[in-house]
Amino acid sequence: MRILHLTPEIAPWSKAGGLGDAAAALVKNLALLGHEIRVGTPLYGGIPGRDKMEIAIPSLQVGVHGDPRAAACRVRQHELGPKAKIWFIEHEYFYGAREVYPPREDAGERAAFFARATLDACLATGWIPDVIHCHDWTVGLVPVLLKTTLKNSPLGQCPTVLTIHNLQHQGLQPQRLLSYLGLPENLWNAQALECLGAVNFLKGGILFADRIITVSPTYAQEILTPEFGFGLDDVVRLRQQDLEGILNGVDTEEWNPQTDPLIAEKFSKTKLQGKAACKSALQAKMKLDPKAKGPLVGVISRLWEQKGLDLAAQALPALLRQRKIQFVLLGSGDPILEQEFRKLAHDFPNDCAVQIGYNHELSHQIEAGADFFLMPSRFEPCGLNQLYSMAYGTVPIVRATGGLADTVSPWQKNQGTGIVFKDADVGGISWALERAVQLYQQSAEYQAVQKRGMAAQFDWVQAAQRHVVCYELVKKQRQPTSSATR
Ligand code: ADP
Repeated sequence: MRILHLTPEIAPWSKAGGLGDAAAALVKNLALLGHEIRVGTPLYGGIPGRDKMEIAIPSLQVGVHGDPRAAACRVRQHELGPKAKIWFIEHEYFYGAREVYPPREDAGERAAFFARATLDACLATGWIPDVIHCHDWTVGLVPVLLKTTLKNSPLGQCPTVLTIHNLQHQGLQPQRLLSYLGLPENLWNAQALECLGAVNFLKGGILFADRIITVSPTYAQEILTPEFGFGLDDVVRLRQQDLEGILNGVDTEEWNPQTDPLIAEKFSKTKLQGKAACKSALQAKMKLDPKAKGPLVGVISRLWEQKGLDLAAQALPALLRQRKIQFVLLGSGDPILEQEFRKLAHDFPNDCAVQIGYNHELSHQIEAGADFFLMPSRFEPCGLNQLYSMAYGTVPIVRATGGLADTVSPWQKNQGTGIVFKDADVGGISWALERAVQLYQQSAEYQAVQKRGMAAQFDWVQAAQRHVVCYELVKKQRQPTSSATR
């Protein structure tokens, strides 16, 4: 099949969170299955070697209706394999800065431009996909464009799939985006794209895509409810028949303790000794007391409300005061929370270390060196770090929500792969951390939990195959003879 992906992030070129990893691994595995792939994504300022990349289209006129001087771009390309290419949309004004999501007044135009430019690159080269797969809000209007403005173009019959990686981020943009993209004005109503006086990009995708995927079966159920729907649960319910959850996996070329070049010593399920060396190296790097008796609990995360780390910051002092655990955190986000964690490290210098920022190398070292990994999320569409943790024999401590509930089974005598708790509150997290301490004290039981986690398979091959089934389905649905044609 010819499959076009549109994504604002693709690792290692760009990554702000799990989407970058997930898009990269999915594309790689679809290519390995023999499919022909193009990926449309912006050429951000921080992408190394950007000026040396091959030019695919020197000058592409993009079908947007703003300032005509800003309506052209260059398309560069990178070959991922014999039949797979990334098209990098180069537009200095929109994407010259390093960040994927800078706080800009024209965030809507930035998103709309690369989406429309990718479609125009297909039209210009005559590469017409069998399926178009859109990831998250920035490209949510692509299914809308195909069924309206581009209906009579060669792309008009392409079926579309939308993956919701996180329903909280919807892209509420000014009404002017409709005319910027040349979309019909009659879409400006609450049954279509309008939402709280803005154009809601993700809502457009949910209403117009032929099929909707989200990144875990539990999250697919949760987003049907007001608690997790962020105001769009009624819209998601309209599409319930076309919604499914497919779990993300682990890219074992990137996250594998047997081959990871970034960790102090390699290890495996049958040769766990190297993990102790990784813990010592992490303690030394983060200046933690190497003689501490308790387990080392790690966190790598965006510091936003979703992740529940504000609650963890309240639960941790009691355990640190009693020297029951050590704690290491890598992350950034809410400045108040960043400050709270800095203070925690200041108050407990021997047992708590905090690094604010983004650090790829340290993220691998925390996964390898920690005994437990904490994810107390209020909601979690899939979550990747609990999967990486299990692969590295680091026992996850997770709240039972979304993909965390689907991938970590609660520790009980002789079974389970992690500590699972229900309540998103300080009591819930304290309970879970105390339980982790108890487990750690029973070393045979702890090792058994570690090994069960390391044996768990969350592979991308299977996830890619499930996507192919979904692509086949939408292709069939869009065939003119099918009664399911929308
Ligand atoms: P989300 O997409 O909600 O941020 P995920 O668990 O799906 O959460 O994915 C987060 C990804 O980003 C993981 O690969 C994680 O290791 C990485 N990550 C998050 N924060 C940092 C950081 N400060 N430094 C390095 N990697 C990070």
